[in-house]
Amino acid sequence: MKIDIVSVFPEYFDVLNLSLFGKAQAKGLIEVHAHNLRDWTHDVHHSVDDTPVGGGAGMVMKPAVWAECLDELLGLEPADATPDAAVDTATDTAAGKPVLIFPNPSAPLFTQRDATELSHADHLLFGCGRYEGYDARIPAYYRAQGVNVREYSIGDYVLNGGEVATSVMLEAITRLIPGFMGNPESIVEESYTGEGALLEHRQYTKPAQWRGLNVPDVLLSGDHGKVDRFRRDEALTRTNDIRPDLIEQLGCKALDKADRKT
Ligand code: SAM
Repeated sequence: MKIDIVSVFPEYFDVLNLSLFGKAQAKGLIEVHAHNLRDWTHDVHHSVDDTPVGGGAGMVMKPAVWAECLDELLGLEPADATPDAAVDTATDTAAGKPVLIFPNPSAPLFTQRDATELSHADHLLFGCGRYEGYDARIPAYYRAQGVNVREYSIGDYVLNGGEVATSVMLEAITRLIPGFMGNPESIVEESYTGEGALLEHRQYTKPAQWRGLNVPDVLLSGDHGKVDRFRRDEALTRTNDIRPDLIEQLGCKALDKADRKT
């Protein structure tokens, strides 16, 4: 997977050389390029922002500088399309097609489902906003060009910029690429994963007794059926307590007979 990131602070992404992400780059599973948006400016101050049209506090990222950058990274000819005259908007992660992603606190929430879908893409291009955000015509223009454009929030709070949000999404996406994790089993049964997505049961390691606290007896029983049932019940109970919205989304297919009794 090729990953391009555009930011006014590309150094933020030096951390991607560490840990599993660094190993995945060394193995050639992913290829990451962090670009400085200011490299596409032409003025002496390398300015990327301007005052909001209509007034208000702060600054907004200018469309022209983003367009020069994105045209080049997407391999598009500069054009003057209007969104109303849009060609078919691409929404799938078809082989070879880039997906252009803008972190945005006022966009739909990024979920494990999005991470799973995007882990199949060949090329992701992230545009990190700063200040009051980016001019709304930037995603609209690229949608009109037939580019697969996504805008995602990573949570109901406001960060200073899209860099941290991009790192969060990238980590969630890339760990699902086959070969990324040392043990592929570790991503099979996790919170939010699979058809009946629940929060995971609690985890314990050795020793069985620690500072007066015991691991639940059933986990020491060696009875795999009982262990599975215990974990499933705990996942259901925790999800019901902490994220009842996920229980409401569960289809009947995602429940087994014993679940219905709990
Ligand atoms: N004025 C914007 C608003 O109120 O919605 C906030 C802009 S924020 C200070 C600057 C940039 O940080 C955004 O353009 C976006 O790229 C990023 N950002 C901030 N919070 C985010 C979140 N929760 N999810 C994704 N991106 C976020």
